[in-house]
Amino acid sequence: MSIQVYNSLTRQKELFQSIEPGKVKMYVCGPTVYNYFHIGNARPFVVFDMIRRYFEYKGYEVNYVQNFTDVDDKIIKRGHEEGLTPQEVADKYIDSYFADADALHVRRATAHPRVTEEMREIIEFIEDLIQRGHAYESQGDVYFDTTTFEGYGKLSGQTLENLIAGARVEVSDLKRNQTDFALWKSAKAGEIAWDSPWGPGRPGWHIECSAMSMKYLGEQIDIHGGGVDLTFPHHENELAQTEACTHKPFATYWMHNAFVNLGNEKMSKSTGNFLTARDLLQKYDGTVLRFLLLSAHYRNPVNFSEELAENAKAGYERITTALLNLKHRLESAPAGHADTVDADKYRTAFEAAMNDDFNSADAITAIFDLVSDANVYLRSEQVEQGALQAYLQLIEEFLDVLALGPADEDAGLDAQVEALIQERNDARKSKNWGRADEIRDELTAMGIVLEDTPQGVRWRRK
Ligand SMILES: [Zn+2]
Repeated sequence: MSIQVYNSLTRQKELFQSIEPGKVKMYVCGPTVYNYFHIGNARPFVVFDMIRRYFEYKGYEVNYVQNFTDVDDKIIKRGHEEGLTPQEVADKYIDSYFADADALHVRRATAHPRVTEEMREIIEFIEDLIQRGHAYESQGDVYFDTTTFEGYGKLSGQTLENLIAGARVEVSDLKRNQTDFALWKSAKAGEIAWDSPWGPGRPGWHIECSAMSMKYLGEQIDIHGGGVDLTFPHHENELAQTEACTHKPFATYWMHNAFVNLGNEKMSKSTGNFLTARDLLQKYDGTVLRFLLLSAHYRNPVNFSEELAENAKAGYERITTALLNLKHRLESAPAGHADTVDADKYRTAFEAAMNDDFNSADAITAIFDLVSDANVYLRSEQVEQGALQAYLQLIEEFLDVLALGPADEDAGLDAQVEALIQERNDARKSKNWGRADEIRDELTAMGIVLEDTPQGVRWRRK
């Protein structure tokens, strides 16, 4: 069965076909690290992690890149408030990102590039756009000339005229056209800055994703993802930059998840209407929060409330209780009987939901149907090991695809391996070769093989 994907660019569901057979290249815009992420921010992390895992379940090899925006006005401001350098603010909130993402069973991306470590590529990208006549310098800033890219507006379905009329652009005397956007911003006095051909400054927000996607995934990718609020201007500008450079489609499929609302308003840091994942994790298990987010289709809004969280908790417990009961009955059930469970029927229902634009809501309904049937079976006086085993394995298999397993040993191991790799990277950076070798040995003993690649360290099980 094939996978259908809703493509924001064409505004319809399309049959998924990867550029390279058997491989998926995904780029998902990551967080600006100045704060703990809220449950609305968490949605794309969880959603695209689910999508990645489903591709893997279907046999694809997924190369998944998610960036960290680690220099920005908000980070600089937070540094002033907390008495930290922008670098220290970023490090602190990158650590907290990983801790909270781990709790939500969000696996590490193949690469997590940081803006401040990719400055050379970003500057080269801007220079290339200037050479091609798509960008211009203006008093130390560099702007993308939106009138030079014919497809500008195609992702968000707008024209230059209605963008200006809708005042969705920043007015500035330095720009040739109101719709132009900054690729490079000259530094204000005393502000953190990098040298460039246009003087000291730092990149505008949009260019980093184009540069990083190009570096880590190549000119063309299969999926570019993020929250629906990124469609314009962020993704529209990314698309313009990259396609102006390559003259090829940047991403085959643009995917956007809907918001999480709180009190019927979009959850947002700027309005103060939000709940951090960190606070919610004090109260709810990370698996329950993940279950809550995946209980809605990713293109439908989630209206977060205490009641919704309690319902998610109760719903999830129905599944784990069935698992416990199946295990319990297995201990005393007579062996040697044939399996009478139609596994194909359940697998077809589960996969049909997931194949339909990753409808995790319907996939969870398929799990509940399976659990109901298992519960009916559990109430019968005579049970057989084969059937109990079949129900148990199916429920565990489906939960595993969505990373919703109650005692997800693999997820625990993944987090442990990632933490050790991070420690080894740090040891190598500080030239502590002894400790780095020790960690490699430790990982080898755990059955983990490390490969040092130009894109960073990759690992796999032996
Ligand atoms: Zn981006």
